[in-house]
Amino acid sequence: MLPVNQAESIILNLVQPLDSQKDIEIVDLLTASGRILATPVSSKLDFPHWDNSAMDGYAVKFTDVKDCSPENPVSLEIIEEIPAGYQPQGQIESGETARIFTGACMPPGADTVVMQEVTQREGNRVLILETPQPQEFVRYKGSFYQANTPLLNPGIPLSATEIAILAALQCPKIPVYRRPKVGIISTGNELVTPEQSLQPGQLVDSNQYALAVAVAQMGAEVIRFGIVPDEREILKQTIAKAVTSTDFLLSTGGVSVGDYDYVEDILTELGAEIHIHSVAVKPGKPLTVAKFSDAQCLYFGLPGNPVSALVSFWRFVQPALKKLAGVEETAWKPEFVTARSLQDLRSNGKRETYLWGQLNSGNNGYEFQLAVGSHSSGNLINLAGTTGLAVVPLNETLIPAGKSVQVLKIS
Ligand code: AMP
Ligand code: MG
Repeated sequence: MLPVNQAESIILNLVQPLDSQKDIEIVDLLTASGRILATPVSSKLDFPHWDNSAMDGYAVKFTDVKDCSPENPVSLEIIEEIPAGYQPQGQIESGETARIFTGACMPPGADTVVMQEVTQREGNRVLILETPQPQEFVRYKGSFYQANTPLLNPGIPLSATEIAILAALQCPKIPVYRRPKVGIISTGNELVTPEQSLQPGQLVDSNQYALAVAVAQMGAEVIRFGIVPDEREILKQTIAKAVTSTDFLLSTGGVSVGDYDYVEDILTELGAEIHIHSVAVKPGKPLTVAKFSDAQCLYFGLPGNPVSALVSFWRFVQPALKKLAGVEETAWKPEFVTARSLQDLRSNGKRETYLWGQLNSGNNGYEFQLAVGSHSSGNLINLAGTTGLAVVPLNETLIPAGKSVQVLKIS
């Protein structure tokens, strides 16, 4: 049985990220949410593009207003009004000013904006009642960003903020990595779909749903291969077909050592190389990871129990899927935070143990609230609302309430 961190590095080493030349699509910005940027982005323009005002007020020469006060105001002649989007026509000379609005271009000759709240308008003149700071309320050209310097790196997921920047850069279409294709197979004679009536001994295939949604949430394309009975030939045919059209293939069930657990045999027969058989993790000990070198598909044989399947997905598949998807290296790894456990956390010490519950922010940092009820790997009922998995390390049997625990964030 491999320790968890070794299994993690074996898996990550098996994954080749999508190719930034070949595996891309050009998408409209409005449909780019959640996609991974495939190219470095910079702009030919400075931000701001030109010196502009950060306030509604008056554009002045600082030297004209450096000694004013309500008792001793300075009167300036207004030579122009400059709304946003308008190019100033005149040059500010000493004794002159321009009425200016937020975002409007600074007129040549002016270097400071006096906000209108400390002025008094008198026809075509204005009294300046307070001395501003030199250059106050001017947003200088290039002060936010200088043209042709790196702006966005490849590998970042695009959300409202990055898409706003790309829009401002006038990039209406943008290269992103294609979505990884992830196949999902449920194995088991006992499984039925949620629509089918349940006969004695049968069980609904919840894993298909859990994994399909977890994969889709990561922006990958889900290809569902449905329920496959524990019959060697059918399972073999399904896997042989699925590996040709997927980047990752996830199956659940059939990877224990029971009489109906054929997955590893089939993978070997199909020419895949098996890199992992089992991991010292609870839940989730049986985990098969195999690589089909011809098809380039990475196979994850996940355990059948619903919690084991999801925990294995979060701990092992999710980081690998991020790497495959082109996500930058700093963001592949699972995110662990330190939290104060509100309950005793127990393990038999023989495997790294993941206990599910809620990660909340308390007064002094994170707190972990253990889910109430059975922590059997077959119990999906108390998984609802899970936002964290608390880790009891190998060889430890108890993390007492009130003590610190590492918690894997679930998003
Ligand atoms: P297995 O690894 O095939 O022996 O399955 C272990 C346990 O997980 C059994 O109790 C199965 O009934 C259950 N199980 C297997 N596949 C699924 C599934 N797709 N959805 C829900 N439970 C499952
Ligand atoms: Mg089974």
